Amino acid sequence: MRSHVLLVEPDYYSRYPPLGLLKLSAYHKNVCGDTTELVHGIDQEVESEPDIIYVTSLFTWAWKPVWDAVRYYSREFPGAELWLGGLYASLMPKHAALSSIAPDHIFRGIHKEAEDLLPDYSLVPKWNKKVGGSIIFSSRGCIRSCVYCAVPRLEGSMNSMKRSIEHLIWPGHTRVIFFDNNILASPYWKNIFEEIKNLDLRVDFNQGLDARLITAEVAKNISELKIDEVVRLSYDYHEIGPYVKNAIELLNSYGIDGRRILVYALYNFTDDPEDLFERIKDILRWGAVGYPMRYQPTNALVKNRYIAPKWDANRLDAIQRARRVIGYGGAFPPYEGFMKEKVEKCQSFVEAFAEFMKPQEVTP
Ligand code: SF4
Repeated sequence: MRSHVLLVEPDYYSRYPPLGLLKLSAYHKNVCGDTTELVHGIDQEVESEPDIIYVTSLFTWAWKPVWDAVRYYSREFPGAELWLGGLYASLMPKHAALSSIAPDHIFRGIHKEAEDLLPDYSLVPKWNKKVGGSIIFSSRGCIRSCVYCAVPRLEGSMNSMKRSIEHLIWPGHTRVIFFDNNILASPYWKNIFEEIKNLDLRVDFNQGLDARLITAEVAKNISELKIDEVVRLSYDYHEIGPYVKNAIELLNSYGIDGRRILVYALYNFTDDPEDLFERIKDILRWGAVGYPMRYQPTNALVKNRYIAPKWDANRLDAIQRARRVIGYGGAFPPYEGFMKEKVEKCQSFVEAFAEFMKPQEVTP
């Protein structure tokens, strides 16, 4: 018997459509012969009474709208089977089950049967018109196990590597947005790059590229792609500095200007303010754009509340203010003024960011 499936994206902000729900829609329509509809948030008009409801979730700190959605749709449709999945549910299933009306099932991880299906982008016409991009995981997991990252826990080591991704591109889409954690660690990265080139698609390596895996051959292949916006790297701790520098130089040598290379710098973890300042200075001296990225524990229920032992609220706030006031889109590009005033003249974090700190607390 055909079922009607209600897909619910809770009322939090995301730049991207709910990929997991779009895959589930494809699975139910194409494999089970069901009908589906997608709603955002609660109090939404629903076309037909559902038999199955899937609520997705994202960041752990966006748990309240998830609870609201579970409660609301459980009450509205008590006869339907309600599943909760997604990132928050996978990372914090016990917390997700605490809701006064708990979901019938909590699904952790990836739905294997839906993973390799073309997501049902017909449910997100605005996205198709505005962005026209297919979001793709050409691999799951990662070869590394950085302690600050949820990927090793959620997806384990590299797996599910695809040789081809053409079947995951929605007709009419002009770009691909890779959500791979470490696409260069896939043995098929070159096949995938070749395919994108042949299909003449724009590309966004959304989760960044691993600087340690950027060789001359990789840099050359990247330069032959139509990169959307920027190439993203990360410089999360000092030891990988030489790799990041080398990657930037290689990308430059194949015509990718430093202003188009965005380097994330993790802070508020085991580092201290001086450590972050040194890494930002390195990035700018190497000619790329620095983007401070505040560490959030993988079980944070409130965003930006965690303060690491070597940091304090004043210094953390100073970074946020500096990003707003002298940053560009939250990043620090290697502009002449910034280089002169902050990078070359300042010897310490406090010297560079004093103007953004509360004066009574400014101590060197
Ligand atoms: S390389 Fe990136 S994705 Fe892989 S474990 Fe480290 S932070 Fe996570």
